[in-house]
Amino acid sequence: MDNWLGLDPRPRLTTEQRLAYERDRTDVRSQSLNQTTFTVTLFYLLYAAIDVLLLGDIVWLSLGLRFGVILPLALALSHYQSGRRPIAYKEAATLAAVIAGNIVWCIVLVSSESPSALHYYYAAAVFQMVVTIAVRAPLTITLYATLCCFLINYGFIWFLEGVTLDYLLYHLALYIPTVALTLISSHQLEAERQIAFLQAHENEALKRELSRQNGELERLSATDPLTALPNRRGAEAELARLRRWYRTDDLAHSALLLIDIDNFKAFNDNYGHNAGDACLRAVAECMRRELPDSIHLSRHGGEEFLALMPLSDPARAGMFAERMRRAVRSLGIEHAHTGDRNRHVTISIGIGYGSIADEARFSETLDAADRGLYAVKDNGRNAWRFGPPAEGERIDAA
Ligand code: GH3
Ligand code: MG
Ligand code: MG
Repeated sequence: MDNWLGLDPRPRLTTEQRLAYERDRTDVRSQSLNQTTFTVTLFYLLYAAIDVLLLGDIVWLSLGLRFGVILPLALALSHYQSGRRPIAYKEAATLAAVIAGNIVWCIVLVSSESPSALHYYYAAAVFQMVVTIAVRAPLTITLYATLCCFLINYGFIWFLEGVTLDYLLYHLALYIPTVALTLISSHQLEAERQIAFLQAHENEALKRELSRQNGELERLSATDPLTALPNRRGAEAELARLRRWYRTDDLAHSALLLIDIDNFKAFNDNYGHNAGDACLRAVAECMRRELPDSIHLSRHGGEEFLALMPLSDPARAGMFAERMRRAVRSLGIEHAHTGDRNRHVTISIGIGYGSIADEARFSETLDAADRGLYAVKDNGRNAWRFGPPAEGERIDAA
């Protein structure tokens, strides 16, 4: 049927998708049902004026039924729609109210002896339009409501004053196309709603997957593949985070530990590049173990590493430097070509103490760490030292 009518086919929803679809539309639908109820009730009550004009003999019956039965029913329905209950129940209740309105209207018309009742009875098609176009419930329940209205309208029609077979055919000639066309539009609306829902959910899932992959890519681009430590980009991201989270004054008390493996060129030259890589990994792992998670350790480049210790004091920086130095020496990685008496892989550490609140100050503090490192290298390696202040510079904390 879908194709020859040129309609969008309804998408197939799994049970899970159907439940999600129902959940998704509950709030919006509850609100629109409430508005529909208000508008349709208003029209229904205003039609009392037509009863007064056309059916002078049953005015009180009309007013009594419209205002005494349907109005309270509509108010109760509106209250029911505002509660927290499945949208399907609310739709069913709304359709039931429309059916009640239809029955009341039929009673009013068949009670009248006015010849106008026959013409007026064509308005029965309006109930069909309310069922399909105004309420806009899912197709199946709409079909049931349509059938109810049909049976009501063509059950009561026999009791109209002056009804004939010809009249019945004229009536059907209007009613049947109304049923068919409004049902088609109801079907079309539901198909479009479901397609829009599926598309929105697919977009949502794609967005989640994309952001997951982005996160993974970001993590990979900030990680050194050899040691699995963050790389320089990772350190920059950490610095950016610290600058976002802490005030400039707090970041003025930070330590940077610049760590360099001693005589590493000789290690590579004598034991080979693969052994050099394994050594780098072992040293990185060892240092990471010695530091608490709060201290960011990254591979700064080559055989150099950088530890960030914000909001720290110099004594704490010295303590962790010593801890790492001892631990790396204790790994006992042989290095017969150190050119000194160490004979094992060791590290030298320069400490800069100062601010890391912005790039310029970070650079100054890193320079101090670099000077400390050079001083250690000049003094036989396998040690740590604070960087001496640059010419004309004063470091209070160190
Ligand atoms: P010092 O004690 O003064 O630091 O001397 P050094 O030999 O350690 O310093 P130098 O800067 O002369 O040599 C660093 C060496 O580190 C040179 C380079 O081959 C090696 N290196 C840098 N990155 C890697 C790496 O990823 N893998 C390996 N195996 N070696 C690396
Ligand atoms: Mg070096
Ligand atoms: Mg070195």
